[in-house]
Amino acid sequence: MRDQFGREIDYLRLSVTDRCGFRCRYCVSGAGGPFLPEGDLLTDGELERVVRAAASLGVTRLKLTGGEPLNRPGIAALAARLGAVDGIRSLTLTTNGAALAPLARGLRAAGVREVNLSLDTLDRARFLALTGVDALDRVLAGLDAAVEAGFERVKLNCVTGQDLGQGDPAALAELALARAVDVRYIESMPIGCGRTFHPVTRAQMLRRLTDRYGPLLPAGERGNGPAEYYRIPGFAGRIGFISAVSEPFCAGCNRIRLTPDGQLKPCLQYRPTLDVRTLLRAGVSDEALRDALREAVWQKPRAHQFAHPAAGERLEDRPMSAIGG
Ligand code: SAM
Repeated sequence: MRDQFGREIDYLRLSVTDRCGFRCRYCVSGAGGPFLPEGDLLTDGELERVVRAAASLGVTRLKLTGGEPLNRPGIAALAARLGAVDGIRSLTLTTNGAALAPLARGLRAAGVREVNLSLDTLDRARFLALTGVDALDRVLAGLDAAVEAGFERVKLNCVTGQDLGQGDPAALAELALARAVDVRYIESMPIGCGRTFHPVTRAQMLRRLTDRYGPLLPAGERGNGPAEYYRIPGFAGRIGFISAVSEPFCAGCNRIRLTPDGQLKPCLQYRPTLDVRTLLRAGVSDEALRDALREAVWQKPRAHQFAHPAAGERLEDRPMSAIGG
């Protein structure tokens, strides 16, 4: 599928629930919830239908996200079902990691190739203050379980914000010392409650890492997405940067998102433009569903407006947890 600016869209991020036990300050508003009524979430069958339609139009990569995808009952079976759709070549999942340890092997067996695990600090008290849950030990156990389960890649996502109270995120790089894990620094984005935070930029983070570990060497390889990778001599894993705020990569954006209630978002910062759930529940034909997806992708905005978040009335106002980051 191509949009009007010639970008090839082959990546669908599918939020399978808005439920999450964490209340990360930049992601979940207030105390979390209220969550969507169960009946508003797309069923497994509906998700499969959307994935079939998208795959028939050229989507090859699927990311399961949320909310917390591991909170969706039967997530491994759903992963296997979606990963088996004709045309899907890569199935990955992002998680807060708290429930990962007992599920990691099952997810791997279901065909999940990569796992992204979100972790913003290694300090237990800061973790509790940032997420609202005293779960650092469980997340670290989840990380080890993911490495042992044999995913093709395990990536650790650390959101960096000046005012998040996470301490120095450079300490997280040490998780890549002995483990073949990519530690990626993601600038906090002005989405939903994330609007109240200011990112620690890639340049600032690179300086902090260099001060601590010495010069980082460009890895000379890009992932499938927007991350730019470096190596620290002696470390098993890589260090990555996703700098959507300070160095936008919209010109190469290849993704669309589906919210847990079936709303299609061609751009993270803008409100959904297609109500897929209503179409599905009204009995849309496969051909009409494909046409609707094609048209929504064609209208994908040229770029986000993170630098001017007040501009434009179509801007997303829901928190990331309700969208699917
Ligand atoms: N619960 C899962 C997790 O923790 O990975 C999946 C959902 S979460 C919304 C997906 C990713 O979005 C996480 O890595 C999270 O850190 C990131 N995220 C949430 N809000 C963000 C923001 N305002 N700026 C940058 N990243 C954000």
